[in-house]
Amino acid sequence: MAKLTILEFPDPRLRTKATAVSVVDDSLRTLIDDMFETMYAAPGIGLAATQVNVHKRLLVVDISSDKSEPLVLINPEILEKDGAIASDEGCLSVPGYYEEVERAEHIRVRFLDRQGAAQEMEAEGLLAVCIQHEMDHLEGKLFVDYLSEAKRQRIRKKLQKERRHQSAAVVM
Ligand code: ZN
Repeated sequence: MAKLTILEFPDPRLRTKATAVSVVDDSLRTLIDDMFETMYAAPGIGLAATQVNVHKRLLVVDISSDKSEPLVLINPEILEKDGAIASDEGCLSVPGYYEEVERAEHIRVRFLDRQGAAQEMEAEGLLAVCIQHEMDHLEGKLFVDYLSEAKRQRIRKKLQKERRHQSAAVVM
């Protein structure tokens, strides 16, 4: 297993729209394992392939506190959504920022599992929020897109400044 590099806002590669996975094979399963390792190490509760610069429709989620509920969704599709829930969201690609976003409270989703078998599941609350957040990544969308333009610009400027400082430290 290998830890992957997570792209950070405003990296334009995060805006790429992912394409459907056509074959679920061992190389995809290796990517899935690497994504779990990367997500757990971060630590985070969800990671979309887009965030590790692989533009396939694939995401991993685990909202448990002890890594006991790993969930892989390949080619996820929301069949139904209802209700509304507002919660503070953060994102491994927007480190250090948490803002309130409103999402559907309950979703029904269809996807392929790590064996390539079609599955359907219902999710609500945090799990539903997390899946919707990760599915946005596959469309090139970030949670900061739900915020005001002014707020998004502030986050962008701050993150760019922090990164300039970081890279300066490396060359010196
Ligand atoms: Zn995210």
